[in-house]
Amino acid sequence: MSHFLVRSDSYKSFEWMILFIYALCLREIVIIIKSIINGSDNGRTSKYSPLSHILIIIQKQMTDDTFDCPVCFGVMAEPVVTPCQHRFCYICISQTLERNNFACPMCRAPFEEQYIPDIDQKFQEKVAAGRPDEFEKASQALKENGLWRGNLQSIKFFFGNKHRLLSDEETGEENSNTHEWTGFVECADPSLSKKFIASVEYKLHPTFKPSKVKVTKTPLEIKRWGWGVFEIKIIINWKKWMNREPVKYTHMLSFDGDGKRNAFLVDVPKEDYQKAFSK
Ligand SMILES: [Zn+2]
Ligand SMILES: [Zn+2]
Repeated sequence: MSHFLVRSDSYKSFEWMILFIYALCLREIVIIIKSIINGSDNGRTSKYSPLSHILIIIQKQMTDDTFDCPVCFGVMAEPVVTPCQHRFCYICISQTLERNNFACPMCRAPFEEQYIPDIDQKFQEKVAAGRPDEFEKASQALKENGLWRGNLQSIKFFFGNKHRLLSDEETGEENSNTHEWTGFVECADPSLSKKFIASVEYKLHPTFKPSKVKVTKTPLEIKRWGWGVFEIKIIINWKKWMNREPVKYTHMLSFDGDGKRNAFLVDVPKEDYQKAFSK
């Protein structure tokens, strides 16, 4: 039964993909035909032959003039260029990263763990000029939902746990604790953690004594031995200049391989960010 469902779902998405490609082709053909009929580019008489004209239009469509995000298909009000030179909305790419998916949604090229998407302001101006009405609408929608990036800087952090199996010599024969885990919080560039984080509080399973531990020095870690997984509560207190409330996360310990890490982004006004780094 479930097998059947999976198959039918994948057929459905395949159909949609074909339909989408077909729609794209149709759009290109219409643009090309229009340009041939008009025989002009922006109202000026073209100095190109019809064939080179077609090639120029196709090239334009494939490069800068594609203002639509390939993830949400909406016009990109806040466009980001990835290191692999693909363009997405800021929101779309940051959601990809939040799902711990560090690869380009278009070409699957892996992003570096430190990768932080930043808005391409030059391209944003192009979108605003090329599709003014849609740009305005999309920006307005982002602003109304409090999602407009404006002049913010993203800082990337990780939290989670490292893990390793203990050897018999380490644990001794009677010890049932066979796992060593290390809870951690760090900036994508760990040397910068202390610029942003004042302290990290870890709340452990009540069987740990003490079960609440506050770490104020980097590395902001807690290392323990244990036999089973449980949920750790992590509270991150920011440095004063960050001017923000502590964030709380719940992390389920992982004893799989090296452990598990989760990413999150924090946005601060670019001005504050630059000030903090000029000190
Ligand atoms: Zn998008
Ligand atoms: Zn890419």
